[in-house]
Amino acid sequence: MSNPSLLILPGDGIGPEVMAEVQRIIGWYGDKRGITFDVSEDLVGGAAYDAHGTPLHDDTMAKAQSVDAVLLGAVGGPKYDVLDFSVKPERGLLRLRKEMDLFANLRPAQCFDALADFSSLKRDVVAGLDIMIVRELTSGIYFGEPRGIIEEGNERVGINTQRYTESEIDRVARSAFELAMKRGKKVCSMEKANVMESGILWREVVTEVGKEYPEVELSHMYADAGAMQLVRWPKQFDVIVTDNLFGDLLSDAAAMLTGSLGMLPSASLGAPMDNGRPKALYEPVHGSAPDIAGQGKANPIACVLSFAMALRYSFDLGEEAERLEAAVNKVLADGVRTADLLGEEGVTPVSTSGMGDAILAALDASL
Ligand code: NAD
Repeated sequence: MSNPSLLILPGDGIGPEVMAEVQRIIGWYGDKRGITFDVSEDLVGGAAYDAHGTPLHDDTMAKAQSVDAVLLGAVGGPKYDVLDFSVKPERGLLRLRKEMDLFANLRPAQCFDALADFSSLKRDVVAGLDIMIVRELTSGIYFGEPRGIIEEGNERVGINTQRYTESEIDRVARSAFELAMKRGKKVCSMEKANVMESGILWREVVTEVGKEYPEVELSHMYADAGAMQLVRWPKQFDVIVTDNLFGDLLSDAAAMLTGSLGMLPSASLGAPMDNGRPKALYEPVHGSAPDIAGQGKANPIACVLSFAMALRYSFDLGEEAERLEAAVNKVLADGVRTADLLGEEGVTPVSTSGMGDAILAALDASL
């Protein structure tokens, strides 16, 4: 059998710095676990613009379509703010998402015990939290037509349209149920069926799909009530599935339950490929952090945990994903901190590579 293939796109700013630590971890899996990935590396964002005059070269796009998974660092930076909209670094990322048709955005909100005090909520509300928000990513009000700003009488009117087809709801619901089967076997679907027809259809289709997953407990919540429950007692949830707009808001709120941006991974999944696994792009939630780029201060954990998600969802290596997550947990429990995680007194921050060293040592200790 051929090795699993991975395309690495470090991108801009701190992207290459955090990705270097993931590359060391990939090397560790080859040396110590006999798990070898066919890794190729390419440019995206500002780095691709500098080299090719486009934020994503066609060859890179083709490579992304052919590998088992793509791992991206971050794109963007002040140097590129002056560029035309069509070649801005973010367009590279948007093109990847669009052409790979990545319709399910997975945003875990996981609270490592050692960092529970970083949350703005009480420790007992967030300690041990492990939920997954599945946000529909390619349809809904951000894409629906008609849209625009029109003249009506003597004033302007801004228009956007919420639109979902049954098949769009069906496929993202299926992703959520499949995930729940690998986790706590609970799905909560959030919409506004009380005031929106698209919400009524959403609820109906999710309920239908749910019948195919009798082991999974399905519940429904209005998205506003869901937002309230998310900050009141988030541990009641396992998987939340919701549309593009509500998911945008709810996933950011859930992410912040757990503290620093430098800790948050994500995955965007598409339709199954010939091997049965979904097309997939993994990336940290944070951006290119130009304020600290090149200083060795960046926290690589979000990118490392994104790779852990790839191990679980693209390579069927769930136990190895757990090993890597446990290594991160141990390092944090031991008090190792990058500068963004400082809070306790008397702690000296480690560098990006210092955090990488600590994770590798914890991986060694796991053998
Ligand atoms: P950002 O996420 O880059 O940074 C926000 C703050 O968090 C900064 O103070 C930064 O230093 C800190 N931070 C972020 N990641 C960190 C890490 N791993 N370790 C330690 N500290 C970290 O967001 P921004 O400043 O709004 O945007 C900067 C650039 O990134 C912009 O060009 C923006 O367009 C781009 N951006 C890209 C993505 C992406 O690639 N997916 C996402 C968001 C923003």
